[in-house]
Amino acid sequence: MRPRTSLAHLPTPLWHHRALDEIVGTNVWVKRDDMTAGAAAGNKIRKLEFLLADALARNCTWILTCGGSQSNHARATALCAAELGFKCHLLLRAKNRPHRPFVGNLMLDELAGAKVSFVTPDQYQHREELLEQEKTELSQRGDSAYVIPEGGSNGLGALGYVEAMNEVRTQLDQGVAGDITDFDAVALACGSGGTAAGTALGAARFGVARRVVALAVCDDRTYFDTVIARIVKEAHALQPELVEAAPVSVSDAFIGPGYAETTPAQREFIVRIARCTGLVLDPVYSGKALYGLSRLPDKPARVLFLHTGGLPGLLAQAAAFFA
Ligand SMILES: *Cc1c(COP(=O)(O)O)cnc(C)c1O
Repeated sequence: MRPRTSLAHLPTPLWHHRALDEIVGTNVWVKRDDMTAGAAAGNKIRKLEFLLADALARNCTWILTCGGSQSNHARATALCAAELGFKCHLLLRAKNRPHRPFVGNLMLDELAGAKVSFVTPDQYQHREELLEQEKTELSQRGDSAYVIPEGGSNGLGALGYVEAMNEVRTQLDQGVAGDITDFDAVALACGSGGTAAGTALGAARFGVARRVVALAVCDDRTYFDTVIARIVKEAHALQPELVEAAPVSVSDAFIGPGYAETTPAQREFIVRIARCTGLVLDPVYSGKALYGLSRLPDKPARVLFLHTGGLPGLLAQAAAFFA
């Protein structure tokens, strides 16, 4: 096992609600990774347990990472970096510079004391070079920086989701989901591919599900097939004892108008679930993904839905919901 630093509150609950089964149209168990922490909650913290352990082992003082202006990954990194005593610089993509006061994830980035730089979408295409450049500049000043790729999505980060499936295995063995011993599929939102890759490896390794349904929130199926395969390969190189990953079917049919933008039907779905079950989904990832699952033509009969968090992103979208 690779070094891991304890950041998340685990295990997260396995949650079921009959009204949710009815709305989604299949038997859904929710893995509540929206409850992995307080303000740092969501899927990214499981990846950060491995990534920040590596940064600690290398005696780095700065953490550099990137994302959209309402990036959950950037916010979780900023908060966990503060917890562990790192300085943190976030490179955030913004078409127009966000207005103050900052809301949602950006507000938390600021609260955590992260240095925030906004770049245009064109500049953001070169994010990896920009981060490497900054790492070099810092090292010339005697500071060592650790670069985390977008979404924490590389082989090392993906190990967080291999371990999440190990956690689900233990919960099923303990009877947390009654007499359910495994699922037909794990369904999840896919934004940078690391969660899908780790889940596919872990689901196979621990017999949690035969396949993974990844609902894209940006980019198309061909893109994610390539990205997920690359991350799976990287994780295998780090942990050769892992078995072959469960097949991942990527659906790009439910992105809607674009990244972080929703259709009225997607918003109504999120509102209905909150009102009928108390479960709060976010409009950028988990809400879009569960909406997509509910509309899939070949819906799996028993699904483990990974609730990956994203609450601050919802709170930043009040105007889109209740204008
Ligand atoms: C980042 C994120 C995802 C997507 O995970 P990836 O590993 O980037 O594909 C899903 N849901 C939420 C809330 C996220 O913040």
